Amino acid sequence: MSVTAPTITSFLPPHRTLMGPGPSDVPQRILDAMARPTIGHLDPAFTDMMEQTKTLLRYAFQTENKLTFPVSGPGSVGMETCFVNLVEPGDKVIVCSNGVFGGRMLENVKRCGGVPIVVEDAWGRAVDVAKVEAAFMAHPDTKILAFVHAETSTGAQSDAATLAAIARKHGALTIMDCVTSLGGTPVLIDAWGIDAAYSGSQKCLSCTPGLSPVTFSERAIEKVRARTTPVQSWFMDLNLVLGYWSGEGKRTYHHTAPINPLYGLHEALLILAEEGIEKAWARHRTMHEALKHGLEGMGLSFLVPSDERLPQLNSVLLPEGIDDAACRARLLNEFNLEIGAGLGALAGKIWRIGLMGASASQKNVDTCLKAMAAVLAV
Ligand SMILES: *Cc1c(COP(=O)(O)O)cnc(C)c1O
Repeated sequence: MSVTAPTITSFLPPHRTLMGPGPSDVPQRILDAMARPTIGHLDPAFTDMMEQTKTLLRYAFQTENKLTFPVSGPGSVGMETCFVNLVEPGDKVIVCSNGVFGGRMLENVKRCGGVPIVVEDAWGRAVDVAKVEAAFMAHPDTKILAFVHAETSTGAQSDAATLAAIARKHGALTIMDCVTSLGGTPVLIDAWGIDAAYSGSQKCLSCTPGLSPVTFSERAIEKVRARTTPVQSWFMDLNLVLGYWSGEGKRTYHHTAPINPLYGLHEALLILAEEGIEKAWARHRTMHEALKHGLEGMGLSFLVPSDERLPQLNSVLLPEGIDDAACRARLLNEFNLEIGAGLGALAGKIWRIGLMGASASQKNVDTCLKAMAAVLAV
């Protein structure tokens, strides 16, 4: 007996306006780039494109780090790549937890056999740098400080420059999650002295999901080289991945790179370079101000204090008596607009309105304000 062929036709997705916590709107120019012919992943034309992608990524990260490349996998794989390579069994790691993504870092440290020292802060607030300093004083043998620069679950931004300086003073390396900050607010890897950072393609870079730009300092690479135990992940072991990404003329097969998605990332980074990164940061700020003005005009208020707020992720408190799911369903069905719900402890309490990458536009701000006014009947 054979299984009957299903009668399914091609999938034609609806046209949405994406103003959630990612993915953000993907410009047609990027989608067009991804539709170009697939070539071999060891083809010299492809490896030239990879070299350009690394150069463009160094600009996005504001770093000279040689080891800067996109991991084949979503931001979560970039995260794991940082932790599995840098955390060895027994390493003390100070983990800052002020939202969902800090919690994931903690889970990574535990799974790598590290000894986590958790610095807790309220959801919706930046990491308290004084608590981190105190944690280092109490645990001078700490090897790594891990923190989320832009907590997408709450919309809070932490002071990465100060956190990295504290870690350095105490002789520790830093791992920074900049999934939501890269391309949206300043991420200054070299100026801040960050040792390992991971991001994602689908937030302020406005590419499709599935790639994770990462960057590692020389100090981080030294720690990986000095490991006495092998990295427990074969796929993410930097020593092996490097044979492909930096083979310098003699690249060896590690895994088949996601060719067409990488065309997309190349185009997305090119768009960022053409605009100029400072201009991109300023645009996110300006659009945030416009959105904030409109939302506050409707009586909505923000979860995060203004000096700790991310322009690209706006968390607003749900007004009394509003049905969370029903409102978001109306936004989607009547206005083709996606916004984000609250996560974890903030589920049902906030909405997360993203202004990431191409979604940080006046057109999107206008669409959002009009739709919100309709569903809130203000
Ligand atoms: C989205 C996000 C991630 C995870 O990225 P995925 O591509 O969904 O795996 C990690 N950290 C932060 C802060 C994020 O916003």
